[in-house]
Amino acid sequence: MNPFAYTSPKNTTEASALTAPNGDFALPVLKSGGMDLLDRMKEGLEAPDLVVDLTRIDDPALDALDTNRVGGRVTLAMLAESDELRQSVPILGAAAGSAATPQVRNVATVAGNLLQETRCWYWRMSQFDCLRKTGDACPAREGDHRFHVIFQDGPCLMVHPSNLAPAMYVLDGEVDVVGGDRERISVRDLYPDPAADWRSTSVLSPAEIITGLRFKSAPNSAFIALKQKQSFDWPMVSGYAVLELDGDVITSARTCAGAVAPRPHPLPQVDAALVGISVDDDARLRAACERSIEGADPLPGSAYKTALLPVAIRRAVTAAANPTERDRGGDA
Ligand SMILES: Cc1cc2nc3c(=O)[nH]c(=O)nc-3n(C[C@H](O)[C@H](O)[C@H](O)COP(=O)(O)OP(=O)(O)OC[C@H]3O[C@@H](n4cnc5c(N)ncnc54)[C@H](O)[C@@H]3O)c2cc1C
Ligand code: SF4
Repeated sequence: MNPFAYTSPKNTTEASALTAPNGDFALPVLKSGGMDLLDRMKEGLEAPDLVVDLTRIDDPALDALDTNRVGGRVTLAMLAESDELRQSVPILGAAAGSAATPQVRNVATVAGNLLQETRCWYWRMSQFDCLRKTGDACPAREGDHRFHVIFQDGPCLMVHPSNLAPAMYVLDGEVDVVGGDRERISVRDLYPDPAADWRSTSVLSPAEIITGLRFKSAPNSAFIALKQKQSFDWPMVSGYAVLELDGDVITSARTCAGAVAPRPHPLPQVDAALVGISVDDDARLRAACERSIEGADPLPGSAYKTALLPVAIRRAVTAAANPTERDRGGDA
C-alpha cells in the first residue's frame, strides 16, 4: 500500500472542502466503514494521497434511524436489526441483513454500500487492465464471466454490487448530499448511464457526501437473494418487489432485478403484468414474472441467470404479499 495522509474532519463541510478538486491533495478520498475502500487500497487498485474519515464527525443526522430516512453512516447491521424499519419497509432490512457477514455488517455503512466498487474479478486484480480502468478491452467478454451481466447495457459487463441500490429504486428513494450545488438526488439518477460512462461509480463529484437515504414506507415489500452459498457472498441474482394490494389482488407493483446489469434493472413490463392478479394465482404470477427476462442478452457463462431471474422476482412478489415476519424475504 502507498503512504497516505489521514484526517478525521469535525463536520461534513470540512470533509467536502478536503476532497474538493484543486485542494492541497491530488487524490483525496472519503472513507466510511472502509470495508471496500481499504480492500481496494490493499489490492493496489487505488492509491489516494489523503483519506478523509467520516466516522468521527459529530452529527446525529448521519446516524439517524427513522422510518422514512436513515443517516448515511448507519451500518447495515443497524438497518437489518431495526424492528420499526422491518415493519414499515421490510425490503431494506432484508437486503442489508443478507449482505456479507455479521462482522462486515457491523462496520459497513449504507452510503458506502451504495457506492462500493464492482466485484468483477478482472477489475479487482491489479494485473488486469480493462475498459473500466485505462484499457480498451473487456477481458470478461471472452473470459470467465459467470457472475456478469445478462442485460448488456454498455461495453462493461459488470453487475452492480449493491444490495441496497435496487431496494432504493423500488422505494423511489433519494439520497441527501452535501458538498455540491444540490441537496438530494433520486437513486435512479445516482449511477451513470453504462452506455455513456462505464468508468464512474456514481454521478457524485469527489466533494459530494451522502448524508442520508430517504424512502417511502412499503410494508408489502421484499428482497430475495439467490446465492451460490448462503454464507457471505454477493447474490448471483436478486429480486425486489414493492406491492400495493386490495385484498389478495395486486393493484400496483414495482419490481427490480439485482446482479444482472451494470445498474439496478427495473422491470416495468413485470409491474404492468402483475396488476390485477391475485397473489394466490400461481400460474398468472409465474407468467408475469417470466417477463423479467425480456430483452436479456446473456453471455455464454451467465446464461443460467435467465432461469434464476423469474424465480427471484416471483419469490420476492410472493414474500412482499405475505405480511408475516417469516416470509419477508432475504436469502433463498
Ligand atoms: C465478504 C464480503 C461480502 C460482501 N457481501 C455483500 C453483499 O452480498 N451485498 C452487498 O451489497 N455488499 C456486500 N459487501 C460489500 C459491503 O457491503 C460494502 O463494502 C460496504 O457496504 C461498504 O461500506 P463502507 O462504509 O465500508 O464503505 P467504504 O469502504 O468506506 O466506502 C466505499 C466507497 O464509498 C465512498 N463513500 C463512503 N461513504 C461515503 C459517503 N457518505 N459519501 C460519499 N462517498 C462515500 C468511499 O469513498 C468509497 O469509494 C460485502 C463485503 C465483504 C467484505
Ligand atoms: S466487466 Fe467491466 S470491470 Fe470487468 S473486466 Fe470488463 S470492463 Fe472491466
